Amino acid sequence: MPRTPTLAIAASAPGPGAAHGGGSGFGYRTRPLRYWTGGTPRCHLRVIEGPEVRATAVTKIDRIDAIIIDVPTVRGHVVSMTTMLTQSVVLVRVRFSDGSEGLGEGASIGGLSYGPESVESVKLAIDTYIAPALVGMDADAIATASAHMEKAVKGNPIARAAVECALWDGLGRRSGLSVAQLFGGRVHDRLPVAWTLANGNSQTDIEEALRMLETRRHRDFKLKIGKRPVKQDIAHVAAIAAAVGDRGTIRVDVNQAWSLTEARYGARGLQEIGCVLIEQPVARDKLAALKALTDGYEIAIMADEVLQGPADAMRVAANRSADVFAVKVCQSGGLKSASDVIAIARAAGIDLYGGTMLESGLGTAAAIQLFATVPEWQFGTEMFGPLLLKDEILAEPLEYKDFSVTVPQGPGIGVTLDDDKVNFYRRDRRSR
Ligand SMILES: [Mg+2]
Repeated sequence: MPRTPTLAIAASAPGPGAAHGGGSGFGYRTRPLRYWTGGTPRCHLRVIEGPEVRATAVTKIDRIDAIIIDVPTVRGHVVSMTTMLTQSVVLVRVRFSDGSEGLGEGASIGGLSYGPESVESVKLAIDTYIAPALVGMDADAIATASAHMEKAVKGNPIARAAVECALWDGLGRRSGLSVAQLFGGRVHDRLPVAWTLANGNSQTDIEEALRMLETRRHRDFKLKIGKRPVKQDIAHVAAIAAAVGDRGTIRVDVNQAWSLTEARYGARGLQEIGCVLIEQPVARDKLAALKALTDGYEIAIMADEVLQGPADAMRVAANRSADVFAVKVCQSGGLKSASDVIAIARAAGIDLYGGTMLESGLGTAAAIQLFATVPEWQFGTEMFGPLLLKDEILAEPLEYKDFSVTVPQGPGIGVTLDDDKVNFYRRDRRSR
């Protein structure tokens, strides 16, 4: 008996990398249908031809792979807790049942000296706990996948963020939409980008700052301090502030190194020399000390390490313990959680700063996609991660010019990896 073709709209749409005309997994033949004429299709509807209508062609999460790469930095990056000569990040590739893929990244700064997660722990959490919990799930149901991840893995926001980013990238690629579009659409084409001066030497930092100003790459400078006595740090910041003058702004990041008494002395001295912001001056669990500084001085106090997701953001906002939030996708537990942190800050009248965990171009681009959807970044961003690396792992580098970075175009996160570079820098290459 001849079959009469019937039509159904598939639950997921094919995108780049999807096998058009391939099987749906249920014995039906599928082909793409452009539902408007002209231009590049933003979305496909799939016509399912078969003996009966069953819109069950759900795209599934097939496989999750995580690798560690180690890329040398352009110079030693001296922070209060360590000196970085290499940045290590975890790259995540999620493969979906329709042949599409999604990419994500998890990064931290200085191994376990910065926080409770390292790239090694991120890979372990993904391989051992997250991947088994997610494989077989609906690829488009990111909120459900995130809830599963939170159930399977307590804490570990960087590991969860790396996988969640890859799910958003996959959804974007399949639907033909950028992550920024999935989060409401961008309001910025470019975002201002600060540079971190962290040579550990005033003269070298000044030369670097002047180079950045001359080449119009950066005009906002964050100085990593907290390793030396406070008085020496203030003299160091004063020398750089004097050299930069009105051409830029000076901020400092103490990375939790000060006691409250040191921080009071530091805040007084730094605001007198024109520094505009102090980032995480005291330990992340010293919320009362952070609030005392916020209330006691005109200089802006920024929360960074204390913000490990929306619940922390709520705690800080409830007591207004900081003037500014450094929003980090990895530290927040993913793009959606970072979006929630941003919403809490905006509702509480707390200013915003787009923070980095020194991600490579992939993780940096993912954050930029979200940050581009936020109307105001009062203190700009520091999305310079790839510029600190000696080599580029993206096929097409992010564009930095005129003190800002361009928001990538294209579906998903909007970038692709240079597979040869990734293979060269992957840690397990040495043992193969
Ligand atoms: Mg910081």
